[in-house]
Amino acid sequence: MQGKLIIFSAPSGAGKTTIVKHLLTKFPNLSFSISATTRELRGSETNEKDYYFISKEEFLHKVAHQEFVEFEEVYSGTFYGTLRSEIERIWNEGKHVIFDIDVEGGLRLKRKFEEDALAIFVQPPSLEVLKERLTGRGTDSEEKLQERFAKAEKELKYADKFDVILKNFDLETACAEAEQLVGTFLKG
Ligand code: 5GP
Repeated sequence: MQGKLIIFSAPSGAGKTTIVKHLLTKFPNLSFSISATTRELRGSETNEKDYYFISKEEFLHKVAHQEFVEFEEVYSGTFYGTLRSEIERIWNEGKHVIFDIDVEGGLRLKRKFEEDALAIFVQPPSLEVLKERLTGRGTDSEEKLQERFAKAEKELKYADKFDVILKNFDLETACAEAEQLVGTFLKG
């Protein structure tokens, strides 16, 4: 069967990963699209669960063989992409796919899957709060942080291109609203 697609996009640090994880506990018929990336694995992450961590050579080989539905050099020298096989794997399990993906990738998927996809932009309270959250993670070097800030500032301008803007000023409220949005879309 061809299932539906729920796309969560936002600047890094807006809280989309937390919201996506919450939805996965609430909707057993949703499954997370595990992206491929060339970035290094962070502390608590697991290969083939959070991402398929692969080398740049392998990534570019997959690009050349058209294995990606979309891919991006999200940060300079670091690639992220959605594998066609990943969406098919999830649909073959009879489930719908949920994505945690950057803004450009999210819009590209929306354009491709149109009515079968719901594209949600997670809006943080402000750029300042976003910067605090990113700094608080303590996982990135100063240079990487600056790059993430610059990208976040640019991405905030894309909000109105999405089907829905979900404000994440308070996480509990945002999770409840996300549940409602997704529940309604999956029923439709
Ligand atoms: P992080 O390094 O913080 O895990 O992710 C950096 C950014 O890349 C986040 O905005 C994340 O949503 C995005 N991202 C993750 N997977 C993909 C993907 O498959 N394609 C695109 N375009 N962006 C992705």
